[in-house]
Amino acid sequence: MIERTLAIIKPDAVERRLTGTIIARIEAEGFQIRAMKRVHLSKAQAEGFYAVHRERPFFASLTAFMSSGPAIVVVLESADAIRKWRALMGATDPAKADPGTLRKEFAQSIERNATHGSDAPDTAAYEIGYFFSGTELI
Ligand code: ATP
Ligand code: MG
Repeated sequence: MIERTLAIIKPDAVERRLTGTIIARIEAEGFQIRAMKRVHLSKAQAEGFYAVHRERPFFASLTAFMSSGPAIVVVLESADAIRKWRALMGATDPAKADPGTLRKEFAQSIERNATHGSDAPDTAAYEIGYFFSGTELI
């Protein structure tokens, strides 16, 4: 089934000029890019985006990190896009990520882990709508 998912190139990766490298991997893996822009989230916007994690011990640190600098938000489309993008990213903790995954290659820690991906169809729809209007999805 053709699906869409929200990918983020997180501030740690943007700061280290990895945007082009990660976008090249996305295209090489066969995803279509349906929308893309550079954003600098406020703390409140990061808290809204990661609201499901608000009770977690890492919430304050995570939202400070996600609002610390520019990020690139991207809507990806392909067959099975949600699962396929999470497979390309690898495990949340780079120490547990498989060789060849983006997090294995580019993450600095479990928090500064280079990329984000939606985890289910309902969260993908929420997250895409958080950044893009219908007319921006082309
Ligand atoms: P994401 O939602 O960003 O794609 P994920 O689904 O692999 O990542 P989540 O459990 O949703 O992982 O955690 C969201 C983000 O919170 C992680 O990507 C990471 O940046 C941060 N995070 C998760 N667990 C920890 C932790 N134990 N300590 C610090 N930061 C963490
Ligand atoms: Mg997640």
